[in-house]
Amino acid sequence: MTEIYSVLITGASKGIGLEFVKQFLTNKSVKPHIIIATCRNPETATALQELKKSDKKVHILKLDVDHFEAYDKVVGEVKTIVKDKGLTLLINNAAICVPFSDTLEDVTPEKFISILTTNTVAPVMLTKALYPLLKLSAEKNSKETKGLSVSRAAVINISSIGASIERRKGPALWCYRESKAALNMSTRTMAIEFEKDGILVESFHPGVVDTDLLACPGGPPSEIDTATSVTGMISVMLQLTGKNKEGFPEYTGEILPF
Ligand code: NDP
Repeated sequence: MTEIYSVLITGASKGIGLEFVKQFLTNKSVKPHIIIATCRNPETATALQELKKSDKKVHILKLDVDHFEAYDKVVGEVKTIVKDKGLTLLINNAAICVPFSDTLEDVTPEKFISILTTNTVAPVMLTKALYPLLKLSAEKNSKETKGLSVSRAAVINISSIGASIERRKGPALWCYRESKAALNMSTRTMAIEFEKDGILVESFHPGVVDTDLLACPGGPPSEIDTATSVTGMISVMLQLTGKNKEGFPEYTGEILPF
């Protein structure tokens, strides 16, 4: 059993984010003590509310990741929950596509900026806001865990195979591909910058998963369900040591090229 004290997941109202919460409650290899599920509208996130009712480990916090001015308040709430142990694992999962654009005519500055804000800027700014708590976790766990691991302190950015320049194929998916390719670069930079602090940083491709994101106009047909995706990602995450520099893993553990 891998020890992870606390985990925070953004965009946990549905899809892959909600499945992470479910699996952290039931997974046999890892059972975090604290699961902080953030979402834009807790009052309408009924599936998440049900999980909270069934297990006191689940804390729901309101967070629209585009609302940078609200980050200080959220960090304060996280601090109150995790206390002096810090935050062990941050999963930057929230993202949009609205809708996938396959012709350049569909691309507007407003749309491009909106997708970049949610998919790229927000994960970096939220990591920045939570960095002191991640660093605290790395320090507190330095005796038990040498080197880098998700049980010491880690940031996982949910990326996409659509970001892979080497594997580029299929429809244009304007703005979405660019947002995730830029996120991958931020991941590499954070991984290098945070290594000295004992914080692991990695991007993941979750697979082509049956969620509302794929149901967006222009989305590809799904290949797997959320349970397969998240079971796979958790199992791969638990083995990460921060040594991978060649690309980013998908839910099967295969390393995809940047
Ligand atoms: P969904 O559309 O099902 O879920 C997206 C989640 O992000 C929702 O909870 C949504 O909340 C939340 N969200 C969107 N914008 C914001 C915001 N501004 N602030 C807070 N939360 C927000 O998509 P998936 O579950 O499929 O996507 C999860 C991750 O996986 C994303 O990063 C996506 O890019 C990535 N991915 C998914 C693939 C797939 O095949 N499904 C393939 C490759 C990558 P709300 O309910 O409020 O809308």
